[in-house]
Amino acid sequence: MNIVVCVKQIPDPANPSQLDPETHWLVRPDEQVMDDGDRYGVEMALQLAEASEGSVTLVSMGPAGNLQGIRQALAMGADKAVIVTDDALRGAGALETARVLAAAISREEFDLVLCGTESTDGYSGVVPQQVAELLGVPALTFARKVTLDGDTVKIEQQTAGGYNEVEAPAPVVLSVTAGVVEPRYPTFKGIMAAKSKPVDQLSVADLGVDVSGINQEILAVRDAPSRAAGTKIEDEGEAHLEIVSKLQELKVV
Ligand SMILES: Cc1cc2nc3c(=O)[nH]c(=O)nc-3n(C[C@H](O)[C@H](O)[C@H](O)COP(=O)(O)OP(=O)(O)OC[C@H]3O[C@@H](n4cnc5c(N)ncnc54)[C@H](O)[C@@H]3O)c2cc1C
Repeated sequence: MNIVVCVKQIPDPANPSQLDPETHWLVRPDEQVMDDGDRYGVEMALQLAEASEGSVTLVSMGPAGNLQGIRQALAMGADKAVIVTDDALRGAGALETARVLAAAISREEFDLVLCGTESTDGYSGVVPQQVAELLGVPALTFARKVTLDGDTVKIEQQTAGGYNEVEAPAPVVLSVTAGVVEPRYPTFKGIMAAKSKPVDQLSVADLGVDVSGINQEILAVRDAPSRAAGTKIEDEGEAHLEIVSKLQELKVV
C-alpha cells in the first residue's frame, strides 16, 4: 500500500511566535518543527505500510527552511518527501494550500492520503476535506481508529458523544485524531538515515497550479482582550439563588 502523509512544518510552539511588523505574517524561521498533530498521521502511515510492505511519502507546502520538520518525519521511518516551496505561496489560504497539496499528491501513486485533523498554527481544519474533493476521492475524517479490510478502509470517526463507523474503498483521504496511535520516537539510526533520504523541492511552476487568487492581506493584529475579573458572591443564605440566576443568564441551566 502506497501512502502519502501531509506534514506541515511550523515554527516551534515552544518559542514565542513573531509577526512581521509590516505584513503581520507569521515569521517562519529557518528552523521549523513537524506539527505535533502530524506525528499521528506519520505513525499511522508507517504501521499500515509496514503491514502491507508499502511506502510512505511525505508531502508538504511552505517555506522549506533547513527542512528540520521534514527530517523529523523521515527519521520516524518515512521513505521520501516532497516539499512545495515558492514565494508565490506567501499568504495562501486553506483552499490554495489544498490545491497545491493535491497537485503534488497526484504526481504520486497513492492508496491512502493521511492528514492531521487540524494544524497547530492555522487550525482551519478543512485542508484534508478539500484535498479529498480535489483528488476526487472520499474523505474519512476524525479517525480515532483505522483498519483495512482488503481494499476497504474502515474507521471509527470521533464524535462528541462516541464514534461513527465509516468505510470507503481506497483510495481515500484520512484525517486522524491525536490518539489514533502512539507515535514512535525516532531512533539514532533513523535520525542518521533521514539525512540521506530524498527530499524533492518543487515550485508552483513545477506543479502548474494557478495561485493568482492568493490575495489575503492582514490589516491589523490585536491582542485578545484580557479576562475580566470574576464576581465574588458572599453567602448570606441566598447565594445559591444568585448562582442559579447567573447560570440561567449564561443559558447553562
Ligand atoms: C491568523 C490566521 C488567519 C488566517 N486566515 C485565513 C483566512 O482568512 N482564510 C483562509 O483560507 N485561511 C486562513 N488562515 C489559514 C492559513 O492560511 C493556513 O495556515 C493554511 O491555509 C493551511 O491551513 P491549516 O493549517 O489551517 O490546515 P488544517 O486544515 O488545519 O490542517 C489539517 C491537516 O492538513 C495538512 N496540512 C495543512 N496545511 C499543510 C501544509 N502547508 N503542508 C502539508 N500539510 C498540510 C496537515 O496534515 C494538517 O494536520 C489563517 C491562519 C491564521 C493563523
